[in-house]
Amino acid sequence: PTTTRTGEPAEIDPRELDPDAMKVVLRLHQHGHQAYLVGGCVRDLLLKRKPKDFDIATSAHPGEVRATFRNCRLIGRRFRLAHVYFKGGKIIEVSTFRANPLEMDASPEEAPSDEGGNGNGNGGDDLLITHDNVFGTAEQDARRRDFTINGLFYDVPEGRVIDYVRGRRDLDEQYIRTIGDPEIRMREDPVRILRAVRFASKLGFDIESRTYAAMEGAVEDLPRCAPARLLEETFRLIRGGVAAPSLKLLAALDALKILLPPVDAYFKQHGREGERIFYAFAEALDRRVAKGEPLDDAILLATLLMPISRAAPPPAESQESGAQPSVAQAIEELLAGFVQSARLPRRIAERCRLLLMAQRTLTGERRRRSVAFRRHPLFNEAMVVFELSVEATGEFRDALQAWKSGDVPPQRPSESSAGEGE
Ligand code: ATP
Ligand code: MG
Repeated sequence: PTTTRTGEPAEIDPRELDPDAMKVVLRLHQHGHQAYLVGGCVRDLLLKRKPKDFDIATSAHPGEVRATFRNCRLIGRRFRLAHVYFKGGKIIEVSTFRANPLEMDASPEEAPSDEGGNGNGNGGDDLLITHDNVFGTAEQDARRRDFTINGLFYDVPEGRVIDYVRGRRDLDEQYIRTIGDPEIRMREDPVRILRAVRFASKLGFDIESRTYAAMEGAVEDLPRCAPARLLEETFRLIRGGVAAPSLKLLAALDALKILLPPVDAYFKQHGREGERIFYAFAEALDRRVAKGEPLDDAILLATLLMPISRAAPPPAESQESGAQPSVAQAIEELLAGFVQSARLPRRIAERCRLLLMAQRTLTGERRRRSVAFRRHPLFNEAMVVFELSVEATGEFRDALQAWKSGDVPPQRPSESSAGEGE
């Protein structure tokens, strides 16, 4: 089954393709539409990596896609796309070819807008894309994508990669390069800075130099992006097990002051040593994620904030009247800041706060009745964070052992100075 209709060997072994995605492609063809596998799955298959999901791009309009499949729903208001459902909750995403709304000279079909008169009213040299709903051709759809390695299409029955954007060359040479002018592409959607960082870290690719320069230039535009998108792409870095290399790249780009202000402030205050400790936590987290165990966002965030929350109480205030209230306060403020600046959902912030507070009981700084504490709804999650911090710093090994074997660690005096791990 490795050859195609024409008898030529397929460029991607069909056995690597998702059978449901193939069904969707073939059915769209039967109804007279063009349809290709696109984006991340083509990139990953050519790199011999396992794709996370199989996305399809088609000439069929959203309504036509829905009419073609029984098990299908349309989602998204601005960017309407179809979800085709399969057994086991699997979803194949099908999106209609789109053009970059800022490069509309080729008279593409306007998609009906359900928001009324939301044309590209930016004017002047403001490049930020504010709507994304212009249908186009396959080639236009490839060109509106972010990086060349993400712009490849795969024609399933022909067994051929369609490369409008020289993505194959960059896959071979291992470069992250924007499609088109990097200055324009970064400015029209600065979230791409985070995406470039993620792909470079995950794939071990270099960022092509003009693309990198454009990323540096677009950092100042990051605050104009929807906070929810920034937060989501930031979490994707961390969930993807590439927190440490990604955050180093973002630090080099001076983007942390916008994305993670507390981390930026911590680096400024604690210098090299602060960075060393912070990245030790990030690396411990990445190793854990690499083992395949999915960790929830509160655990991910709590682990990264551990070094910062430990350093929290400024020595002067914490000397008198016990350190506890000020640590609690600092943690509270830290997370409140995130809720405000990054629109971190309160639910995650609250779990994260509890996980950080629980660390003080786990280290033995704060005395709690062990039985009750073990019944804490977040006990297991708090233990994961604790394990990771022991791994990162080498401290509190005996306390960890004690908790694991069902004991309680001996009480430790509350420490007041920054970075109790020295
Ligand atoms: P992953 O395997 O991590 O999901 P991916 O390449 O599939 O990586 P997605 O975020 O799932 O990334 O996006 C799917 C595709 O949509 C990308 O490959 C790219 O072609 C396109 N895309 C996503 N975000 C953007 C963006 N901000 N600008 C332009 N194109 C984008
Ligand atoms: Mg994807």
